[in-house]
Amino acid sequence: MISSAISSATIPPKFISTRGDAPALGFVDAMLTGLAPDGGLYVPETWPQLSADDLRAMAGLSYVEIATRVMRSFVGDEIDPAIFDKLVAETYADFGDPKIAPLRKLDDNRWLLELFHGPTLAFKDYALQLLGRLFEHVLSQRDERITIVGATSGDTGSAAIEGCRHGDHMDIFILHPLGRTSEVQRRQMTTILAPNVHNIALKGSFDDCQDAVKAMFDDEALRERLNLSAVNSINWARIMAQIVYYVTSAVALGAPDREIAFAVPSGNFGNIFAAYAAREMGLPIGKLIAGSNSNDILARTLMAGDMSMEPVQPTLSPSMDIQVSSNFERLLFDLFDRDGSAVTRFLTNFRRTGVASLPDERLARISGLFVGASVNDAETLVTIRAVHENHGILIDPHTAVGIAAADKVGSNLDMPLVALACAHPAKFPAAVEQAAGTRPDLPADLADLFGREERLTVLENDIEAIKTFISSNARMTE
Ligand SMILES: *Cc1c(COP(=O)(O)O)cnc(C)c1O
Repeated sequence: MISSAISSATIPPKFISTRGDAPALGFVDAMLTGLAPDGGLYVPETWPQLSADDLRAMAGLSYVEIATRVMRSFVGDEIDPAIFDKLVAETYADFGDPKIAPLRKLDDNRWLLELFHGPTLAFKDYALQLLGRLFEHVLSQRDERITIVGATSGDTGSAAIEGCRHGDHMDIFILHPLGRTSEVQRRQMTTILAPNVHNIALKGSFDDCQDAVKAMFDDEALRERLNLSAVNSINWARIMAQIVYYVTSAVALGAPDREIAFAVPSGNFGNIFAAYAAREMGLPIGKLIAGSNSNDILARTLMAGDMSMEPVQPTLSPSMDIQVSSNFERLLFDLFDRDGSAVTRFLTNFRRTGVASLPDERLARISGLFVGASVNDAETLVTIRAVHENHGILIDPHTAVGIAAADKVGSNLDMPLVALACAHPAKFPAAVEQAAGTRPDLPADLADLFGREERLTVLENDIEAIKTFISSNARMTE
C-alpha cells in the first residue's frame, strides 16, 4: 500500500508572518485576516511534503482530486474535509474546460498551460472562485460579516467580485486605476450590480491602489470596525490554490521522474511564488522564468539584486504594470533565513528610499532556480504574432511576455518548459488584433458584456476620501 503522506490525518502547518511580529494562526484565521497585523504576509511555518510516491499516485487523477489532496495539507480539519471537498468540486464544476487547466502542446519541448477557463478568463479565477466560497462558508458558520477591500490592475478585481457576488456575509470594494485596465477587464467588474459589490476607479496607478488598501489595513480602528479582509494575492489561500496547477501539469509531464521548467509572466509575484511553494513541497521544478514587461523591477531584482523603483509605465500587459510586488516579500523571508525583523528593515528602507539591493550571498540561493527577463511591448506583439503564425494559437499579451522571456533566458533548458497562459486572448482584444490581425471572440456567456449596465465610483487618490466612501457603504450590522 502506498501511504498517503498528505492524508487529512497529517497535521497542517501554522501560518506565521514574514515580519515576525504577529501570532501564528491556523489556516482559517490566516485566510480571514489576509494581511498580518504587523504588516507582513502569512507563510506556512513548515512546508507539507509531497513525496515521490504521493506524486506518482496523482497520475491520472482529476484536477479536483489533486486539488483536494494538495490543499488539505494546508487546511487539515479546520474545514470539515467533506465540506471542503464539496466546495472545491463546486468551484471548478463550471469552468469552461473539463480538464480545468489543460496543457496544450506547442512543440516537442514546450507546452502552454491554459489558465483562462474560469468565469472571468484569467488565472485569478482558480484561487478566487474558491476563496469566495471558503469565506462564505466560514463566515456563515461563525455568523460574522467582513468587508473585503482589494486593489486590482484588472484581473484580480473581476475574479474576486465574481467569487463574492453571491456572498451574504461580505461586502467587497475593489479599487482599480482609472483608465488603466482593458475595457473587458473593467466591464467584468463594473457590470456586476449586486448590492454588496462596489467598484472604485482611482485617479492613480495600480501601486496607488495597493498603497490605499495597505493604508486601510494600517488603520486599526477602521480595520476592526469594518472587519476588513483582503483577497489580494497577499492572502495565503490564493497562493495555496495556485500551487495546484503546477502539480497537475508537472505530474502530467512526468513528475516526479523528471524536472519541469515554468515560464510565468509576473507582476505581484503571487503566481510564481506558488510555483516556488510547490517546489518547497517536493515538486521537481528545475527552473522558474519570471517574465516582466517594461516595469521590470522583478527581472532586475532576480538577475542583479537591483530592487529600485521606477515610475509605472502603462503597457500592453496591464496586469503586470506594477513596481512593488507584494508577494516578493514571501521569497525575501526565505532569503533572509525567515528572520522577520531583517525583512522588516529591508522593506522599510525600500519603501522609504525606493531602492534596495539584495546582497549577492542571499541572491545566490535562488539564482540557480529563478531567472528573470524583461519584455517590451514591441517584443510582446512579435511573440503574439509568431505563436499565431507557427501554432495557430492566439495568446494574450501577458502569456506572450512569459514566452518571450523564456525565449530570452531559457533556450538551453534540458527539461520540458510549461508557459503559463494566464488570460484568455479576448480579455485583451486590441493588442491581440494589432499583433495577429485577428480579433479573438469572447466566450458565449460573455458575448453581451458590452451591452450591460456599468456601475462605478471615481475617487481622487486621497486615502481619507477612500476611507469615507468605504465606511459609508459597508453594511456592517454592529
Ligand atoms: C495577475 C496577472 C499576472 C501577474 O500575476 P502575479 O501573480 O501578480 O505575478 C499576469 N498575467 C495575468 C493575465 C494576470 O491576470
